[in-house]
Amino acid sequence: MEHGNPIKLNNYKHTKIIATIGPSTNSYELIESLIKAGANGLRLNFSHGDYEERKQQILWIREASEKLKKPVAIIQDLQGPKMRLGDFIGTINIEKAQELRFALGSDYPESGIIPTQYDLSKKVKRGERLYLADGKIICQITSVRDGIVYAKSENSGVIIRRKSINLPDTDFAGDVITDKDKRDLVFGSTQDIDYVALSFVQTEKEIEGLRKILNNLGSHSKIIAKIETKSAINHLDDIFYASDAVMVARGDLAIEVPYESVPIVQRKIIGLGLEHCKPTIVATQMLHSMTDSPEPTRAEVSDIATAVLVGADSVMLSDETANGEYPLEAVKVMKKVIMYTEKNAPLKTVFSEATKHNRQAAISRAVNNLAISINAKAIVAETQSGHTPINISSLRSPVPILAVTNNPKIAQQLAIVYSIKSLIRPVNKLTLDRLTDWLSQNKILSKGDVIVTASGKYPGIVGTTDTIKVRMIE
Ligand code: PEP
Repeated sequence: MEHGNPIKLNNYKHTKIIATIGPSTNSYELIESLIKAGANGLRLNFSHGDYEERKQQILWIREASEKLKKPVAIIQDLQGPKMRLGDFIGTINIEKAQELRFALGSDYPESGIIPTQYDLSKKVKRGERLYLADGKIICQITSVRDGIVYAKSENSGVIIRRKSINLPDTDFAGDVITDKDKRDLVFGSTQDIDYVALSFVQTEKEIEGLRKILNNLGSHSKIIAKIETKSAINHLDDIFYASDAVMVARGDLAIEVPYESVPIVQRKIIGLGLEHCKPTIVATQMLHSMTDSPEPTRAEVSDIATAVLVGADSVMLSDETANGEYPLEAVKVMKKVIMYTEKNAPLKTVFSEATKHNRQAAISRAVNNLAISINAKAIVAETQSGHTPINISSLRSPVPILAVTNNPKIAQQLAIVYSIKSLIRPVNKLTLDRLTDWLSQNKILSKGDVIVTASGKYPGIVGTTDTIKVRMIE
């Protein structure tokens, strides 16, 4: 990628935007417009769509990103054990305290048993809760016999076919990567994908399992752990160690745990991300009303600003850009709120420095402090793994961070990390002396700009960044 466009280092959004591609954005022109409007990452939700459609979208994204000279992260979001009701005609009215039966693929009008797309009887136990239609109907499981799950409803409501089922008390440990996910991973490994997002993570074990599958497939995708279960909240630290990034998947999370706890969990996850130097993403309903309205609500604007203020790396749009009537407007609104918030209020990050007593962290702090004290135009980190710029970014440095890499995949992966602008530099130009010339030749920096550079003798080997220099562009 040539760097024809000068990067505006004085005026850009540090918090990144991820938009989901769907029927509302399924064309080259719309994808290009999303990126132009401010999207840094694009999510492909593998709960929907077929492989031909996905292949085409990936090609469009790469073409638009190349044209706009802007690296973009592509996220393959796996469905996981998302359970749904099966097919039946019309609606089913459920009364309070009604005895209900569920079974895989049953014929509802014939048997009176509500069909499911997954054999719940193999997983659930008496006493566990079963939620229907995004938690609108709450049931208690009373028994499981001969492949049939018996449950009693606690409230009344109406359901239609294929509505969601949530099982907040059920233990899925070791079994969250379904056969469909495995097929999707094989497909993904043949495509230019940067991140795989794993749904319904319970513990770090599933992340380790996914890592093995990706390694066996020869994939270089990084892993995003989606936090949307009670179990995951109890294993957050270990999940952070095992994964590359973490998403607060508030849609399912607010069903699986009390919704009033979600804002606190969100802050905790963002804080842990800063401590572990792992990017965090805040997802779902950030601009929900913009699915069918051109204007956001006050509460939505405030929700985005809060995520920015506490230090999230990215904020995400789902239905708003996948199925909504105003996908581009939603990205523009998000960008406007991010830019205003960043300009007018200092971040109020909550994290402990206690875990950061290692050489890499000390070097990142030194780079950041030096850049602030000399009022540097930018921090320039040469990287082949992305670790050094991510470490500096996790200090939430006010100085813009330029990551220079010869690996386009790393540039794409860094696209959803706070403040980082990535530059792809040809392999044959790796010596530090020539880096400043290259930055000036490509009009990324101008004569007289002072920068702090971080580099190492062994580029690509984590923890070997050992050289900090102050340079002036000539
Ligand atoms: C969520 O539940 O918030 C989420 C991001 O996951 P999905 O959109 O796949 O349900």
